[in-house]
Amino acid sequence: MTANPKKALIIGCGVAGPVFALFCKRAGIEAAIYEAQQVPDDHAGLFLNVASNGLDVLRTLGIDTQIEAEGFACSQMVMWSGNGKRLGNVRNGAAAGQGAVSVILKRGVLHRILREAAGRQAIPITFGKQLIDITVTDEQQVIATFADGTRATGDFLVGCDGVHSRTRQIIDPNAPAPTYTGLVSSGGFSQSTTVPPTPDTQHFIFGERAFFGYLAKPNGEIYWFNNMAYPGTPRRSELEAIPQTEWQQHLLGLHSNDQPFIKDVICATEGSIGRYPIYDIPTLPQWHAGPVVLIGDAAHATSPSAGQGASLALEDAIVLAQCVRDIPRLKEAFSTYERLRRERAEKVVRASRKTGNAKVAANLVTRWFRDLMMPLLLPLFANSTSLGWMYTYKVAWDTSVVEGVGT
Ligand SMILES: Cc1cc2nc3c(=O)[nH]c(=O)nc-3n(C[C@H](O)[C@H](O)[C@H](O)COP(=O)(O)OP(=O)(O)OC[C@H]3O[C@@H](n4cnc5c(N)ncnc54)[C@H](O)[C@@H]3O)c2cc1C
Repeated sequence: MTANPKKALIIGCGVAGPVFALFCKRAGIEAAIYEAQQVPDDHAGLFLNVASNGLDVLRTLGIDTQIEAEGFACSQMVMWSGNGKRLGNVRNGAAAGQGAVSVILKRGVLHRILREAAGRQAIPITFGKQLIDITVTDEQQVIATFADGTRATGDFLVGCDGVHSRTRQIIDPNAPAPTYTGLVSSGGFSQSTTVPPTPDTQHFIFGERAFFGYLAKPNGEIYWFNNMAYPGTPRRSELEAIPQTEWQQHLLGLHSNDQPFIKDVICATEGSIGRYPIYDIPTLPQWHAGPVVLIGDAAHATSPSAGQGASLALEDAIVLAQCVRDIPRLKEAFSTYERLRRERAEKVVRASRKTGNAKVAANLVTRWFRDLMMPLLLPLFANSTSLGWMYTYKVAWDTSVVEGVGT
């Protein structure tokens, strides 16, 4: 494989792709991004949490202030039962003074900010380039072939192509498929004059039959989502084929015995109600092969319950760039990246799955027990000390990876 690689082909312009490209630029490595979507869609998706640890990576690039300016600072989560009993508070992010305050923002806005940051550094981003195949020449050059028949050549290729990664399938056709968690996430954006603003806070309601989360901005805009148990292994296209009125009725039915404002928020949704079957990848045997490596969801997709998927993708991006910068041979660089990242990423995936499993209680007894125990257990197991490992991970870009990163 090429030593001291000069050019990276980056597949996917979601979260990991543009950020890895920006770190390449800093490391003096040329990067080009190829994205399957025909055009950027800055209104796609719901919203997500960029946690303290993810913001820390963006701070290294000087993009954190823009995220903070366009997002909703949110340092705490308040838990409720469906009938309005307060179950407790959980910190969302590093303890005060130990890191940035986590920020919630629309997915499309995050994508736009990252894409524009890459554009300002003259990193080429080509849309309408769906990766279908990868070949490696005798000279150890990697060639990406796209669905439109075009090709691109580089010294290494980074699969930033998400949970259903084509790059992953190519480097390991026997790789385990992402696992369906049994949950579907659904949500949207509403305008309300009756729900009071929730400064610095996201609220979570453990409803009778489903889980509901929301935040209300000072201008009355509400970001909301629901998590429901959903049978089978649904595909997103299948769920999106269900007419909106039918889907909305289903949601209203699930929350019919919960706090009444939930119904109002769902009914006030502007535009479509998004539906996302939740898949994760608990462990993937192979993170790299030859001059090809995976980062972000492609390597370790996590369910959204820990609010960490984007932040893990950002951490991967900085660590991989350090490895390629500091270790001349790609094989060792990729192995070091995997060694530094695998344990943490898999731990987050497990923690997130566990949280997700608790969202939908099977019956009256488990619900009763959960609502009784949660006020006692949250302060013990979900305080800023016990969650510190997740939120205070820091990578010092100027430190050589040979000396160690990620404390
Ligand atoms: C409903 C939901 C809520 C979530 N909430 C949160 C949250 O609150 N906090 C959080 O941190 N995470 C959350 N996540 C997870 C988070 O979105 C992901 O972990 C994160 O986006 C991963 O970044 P990525 O760059 O690896 O992949 P993505 O952001 O998925 O980007 C992958 C990119 O690759 C492109 N692509 C795919 N295939 C190809 C191909 N063959 N060729 C070229 N391009 C391709 C895609 O179009 C996409 O642009 C949530 C996920 C879901 C589904």
